[in-house]
Amino acid sequence: MIQTEVLIIGCGIAGATAALRLARNPQRQITVITRAPDPQESNTRYAQGGIVGRSPDDAAEICMADILAAGAGVSSPQAARILAEEGPSLLHEILIETAGVQFDQGADGQLVWGQEAAHSRRRILHVGDGTGQAIISGLIAALRRCPNVTMVTNVTAVDLITFPHHSRDPLAAYQPITCYGAYAFDRQERTVHRYVAANTVLATGGLGRIYRNTTNPSGARGDGLALAYRAGARIINAEYVQFHPTALAAPGAEGFLISEAVRGEGGDLLSPDGRAFMADYSPQWKDLAPRDVVARAIHHQMETNGYSHVLLDIASRMNADAIRARFPNIFATCLKVGIDITREPIPVVPAAHYSCGGVWVDEWGRSSIGNLYAVGEVSCTGLHGANRLASTSLLEGLVWGNRAAQHIEDALDRRTSLGLPGRDDVPPWDESGLVADADPALIQGDMQTIQNIMWHYVGLVRNADRLSRAIRELRHLQNEIETFYRTTKLSDGLIGLRNAIEVALIVAQAARHNRTSRGCHYRQDSVSVEGDRLI
Ligand SMILES: Cc1cc2nc3c(=O)[nH]c(=O)nc-3n(C[C@H](O)[C@H](O)[C@H](O)COP(=O)(O)OP(=O)(O)OC[C@H]3O[C@@H](n4cnc5c(N)ncnc54)[C@H](O)[C@@H]3O)c2cc1C
Repeated sequence: MIQTEVLIIGCGIAGATAALRLARNPQRQITVITRAPDPQESNTRYAQGGIVGRSPDDAAEICMADILAAGAGVSSPQAARILAEEGPSLLHEILIETAGVQFDQGADGQLVWGQEAAHSRRRILHVGDGTGQAIISGLIAALRRCPNVTMVTNVTAVDLITFPHHSRDPLAAYQPITCYGAYAFDRQERTVHRYVAANTVLATGGLGRIYRNTTNPSGARGDGLALAYRAGARIINAEYVQFHPTALAAPGAEGFLISEAVRGEGGDLLSPDGRAFMADYSPQWKDLAPRDVVARAIHHQMETNGYSHVLLDIASRMNADAIRARFPNIFATCLKVGIDITREPIPVVPAAHYSCGGVWVDEWGRSSIGNLYAVGEVSCTGLHGANRLASTSLLEGLVWGNRAAQHIEDALDRRTSLGLPGRDDVPPWDESGLVADADPALIQGDMQTIQNIMWHYVGLVRNADRLSRAIRELRHLQNEIETFYRTTKLSDGLIGLRNAIEVALIVAQAARHNRTSRGCHYRQDSVSVEGDRLI
């Protein structure tokens, strides 16, 4: 059993920020676990476009208004205000000063402010088109310099330790649900350890991998959401899964994100026969319309015309040198699969990209379970409402990672004793009697079934029949997977599969329950609250 003051599960921008902030107090003992062998591996690593800052002609009020407009009427004004007011200074303090991230500067040494869809100001800071990589390598390097942070890789959280669920004391049933850490699977030793903690921070990121087409890397299976749900946490807005309009549609690099910044710099969406179509769907914003509008427009074009993809043309708008300088990763990745973006348009399709909902948290990242915090994409602060404004999620991870840490620090400071359960209070993980190793063919096959169901029936365009069908099929599969899970030795893949089916059902049920089209949740069989954006 491992005891720690604070357990942080996941070290993308949100978990790493929480750890760094807590580590400022040399008395604190912080343990960070990540299922990835490389601590940089996370959604954060793949962020391209950038992170919202505050340019000289911008103000918190203006940024807040843009966030609320993109959120389609259900963004929390309080969360938007917190982000807009606190974000820019934290970006300087944590990313630039502590993590040493060098955002792009012009020849005059001033920061270059990028433009992205639905932002009324140029306010996005970036490091070429590899912003996430620059951020995560800086944050992990900073964490490694903290003597009071223990970082453990290759360890997958299986379930939260919560009382009364895991308590041996029958009278604990009368107490509110409280978290004391997590059971976590060491992928090398192949054993489950008890990480017992006074405070636990879930920072496990998103769930894009439950969809067939996604921009998310393989670890984004919604693990944290499933853990919190099983423990009884309140989950909200799960139906609001944002689909990115433009993922590369080329064999060998499927799902690779073609950043919104390409459209921000003037790139046009065209049908395969070269016709610009966005003005038909959004006369005001055209190619820079909010993501949900653009993604559905592309889906509509593909469905009604039988296209396998549409095109995104930047070659006609920027010269070759400028394209290579601004989008070096996109240029290189496309070239590897035979597409020279300085000369020809890029084939693109929409893909699941971001979870706007998640574990409900308050302004300090506190969940509905005692001592359990959630930060970053796994959480729902209400900031994104029904639709996330581009480049706000990295900043949300930074702001709420910092806030949760601040709250934990204050709470620990007030305590005279940690009150941690002892070795005998938390039962060890019981795998007795399990001898069969998980069959990788079953894991892969079931995962693909989930991804196909989600893509076709709980995707960009939903209706009652599709959603009911999805839920029926997912429930049946969940029974199979639960039996598989109960009778097989644990592996990271099996843990992920069990979480993926749980999360798929959470999303599908939330989507069936909500009959109003709003933001990125589009129901064919209901009236949109945004009539002018209905397509
Ligand atoms: C291709 C792409 C481009 C993007 N571009 C942008 C952008 O330009 N700007 C922007 O603001 N946002 C962007 N986003 C969204 C943004 O990157 C994410 O929302 C954000 O990075 C999430 O950060 P996080 O810390 O919450 O989670 P992540 O960065 O995903 O970190 C999750 C961590 O949890 C760990 N983990 C997961 N499950 C477990 C488990 N069971 N046990 C232990 N550890 C676990 C992972 O290993 C990882 O360390 C992009 C996303 C993608 C996929």
